[in-house]
Amino acid sequence: METQTPQAIASLSNVSKIYGNGTTQVIALNDVSVDFRAGEFTAIMGPSGSGKSTMLHTLAGLDSVTSGKISIDGKEITGLSDKDLTKFRRDHIGFIFQSFNLIPTLSAHDNIELPMRLAGRKIDAKWMASIVDSLQLTERLTHKPYQLSGGQQQRVAVARALVARPAILVADEPTGNLDSVTTAEVLNLLRSAVDQLKQTVIMVTHDRHAAAIADRVLIVKDGQIVADLDHPTADEIAQVA
Ligand code: ADP
Ligand code: MG
Repeated sequence: METQTPQAIASLSNVSKIYGNGTTQVIALNDVSVDFRAGEFTAIMGPSGSGKSTMLHTLAGLDSVTSGKISIDGKEITGLSDKDLTKFRRDHIGFIFQSFNLIPTLSAHDNIELPMRLAGRKIDAKWMASIVDSLQLTERLTHKPYQLSGGQQQRVAVARALVARPAILVADEPTGNLDSVTTAEVLNLLRSAVDQLKQTVIMVTHDRHAAAIADRVLIVKDGQIVADLDHPTADEIAQVA
């Protein structure tokens, strides 16, 4: 008898990504097929240069594929025009980067609201306030990014991603520039976004303790998924990675 599996919200089908050509050619992704299930927290780990960021960027439509197909929320995004892809990304995908990517001239408050404003969507003030409160940003909303610490800037970036309630939240080493206390806060917030809001989160990290809060851990090596672990502990990840 078939067991019920949660629906795939993102799928890579035979995705390859090759940078450059000839002798400088790099195969960043080598025929990768994987489904990401809705409402799950997936961590992606692997050595530097193994293709983690490329996997995240292609799946989020930030980078094109050389071959293969990517579907998000039931829509094949490979083959969309740049304009349609930009709109699709804005409506369906939230991003958190290691480098925060905040607009320097905008306050924390305006940075958080920007994607929703660009998408012409109404901001849920209660949800916004609860996110801002749980990230302890209430006192910082009028500050510009340069007036904030790295941890505070990342909390603004997390708030910006969560306020839009995207179908998928992708995060590329979101705690890479943070101290251990702020790292724990950011990870807890991502975890509760999954548990309480049924948010889907896909996070690249090099920290097996960070990865251990995920439901699933994929280990990437040489552009391929070499292990797919269900609720592993940090020690179990260390044995495989
Ligand atoms: P990771 O995130 O696991 O460190 P990446 O996905 O960034 O790895 O990179 C995978 C491989 O692709 C590496 O060999 C990297 O040098 C190469 N690569 C990534 N981006 C580019 C690019 N824009 N041009 C050329 N090579 C790239
Ligand atoms: Mg990377």
